[in-house]
Amino acid sequence: MKIAFIGLGNMGGGMAANLVRAGHAVNAFDLSSEALMRAQENGCATFTSVRDAVAGVDAVVSMLPNGKIVARVFEDDVLRHAPQGAILLDCSTIDVGTARQVMADAVTAGYDMVDAPVSGGIAAANAGTLTFMVGGTDAAFARAEPILSDMGKAVIHAGASGAGQAAKICNNMLLGASMIATCETFAMAEKLGLDLQTFYDISSKASGQNWSMTSYCPVPGVGPMTPADNAYQGGFATALMLKDLKLAMEAAVSVHADVPMGERAAELYAQFDEAGNGALDFSAIIQTLKHPA
Ligand code: NAD
Repeated sequence: MKIAFIGLGNMGGGMAANLVRAGHAVNAFDLSSEALMRAQENGCATFTSVRDAVAGVDAVVSMLPNGKIVARVFEDDVLRHAPQGAILLDCSTIDVGTARQVMADAVTAGYDMVDAPVSGGIAAANAGTLTFMVGGTDAAFARAEPILSDMGKAVIHAGASGAGQAAKICNNMLLGASMIATCETFAMAEKLGLDLQTFYDISSKASGQNWSMTSYCPVPGVGPMTPADNAYQGGFATALMLKDLKLAMEAAVSVHADVPMGERAAELYAQFDEAGNGALDFSAIIQTLKHPA
């Protein structure tokens, strides 16, 4: 297929390279010339406008920073210039309301579209092992699925328009809260004199077991290798967790959901980010729970 790819940053760069590897002709557009240079090295054709990048393509994939930018790129350019019949896939993490609005406008303009945010970070984007959560009609999902499969290990139809974004922020709200619960538990276990490896061995087989502990343990030297074993470098940045928690809080307000644990997680990650830790992996929040201010 001929695919336009808009937004080739940390995530989009690797995703576009995987589309090239799968045999697609990829037209790249990004505001950053560095991103475009990397895209060219990875076998993409590069363009200086969305209008030129989408000319004659079968599909448009976007991986952009936020909802405002996604709305602008689609409303101002993609929906005006992409060929009728092209399938549109937005893989950015954005608010549910904007995702639904952009898709409604796309449908009005005669396009099939899906929202398809991802789980998995930069390493998974490069390796083609992302998980996609997809919102849209059955027909749009059927068209998007083969393209997404070339960039990921799992593609799941979450439901109608916006359902991909809803699934993504619900999952990450649970992740944020469960990571903090895991961190505070290990901090308390240590203060109670427990050996942390022994506590891990017990709790990972008992009812406290959860992903933040057994797959992503925030304690260095305990459990599998995680960012904790690398001074909390790499992994999933605190700033990105905070972005997702803010989106989750907006969504909660919009549907009057009572989310006290999600709210507290959002507050704690905001404090941790404000203290200059935005680039650290989100499991590094254990440091503040071990040594409260
Ligand atoms: P990034 O900042 O590295 O990349 C975004 C790219 O979009 C940049 O290259 C930027 O120049 C480009 N861009 C901005 N405005 C543009 C415009 N108007 N037209 C064309 N290009 C434009 O961000 P990222 O880490 O690649 O994240 C992208 C999306 O993926 C975000 O929505 C993020 O929340 C989501 N996400 C990121 C991760 C992660 O680990 N980085 C994980 C899951 C989801």
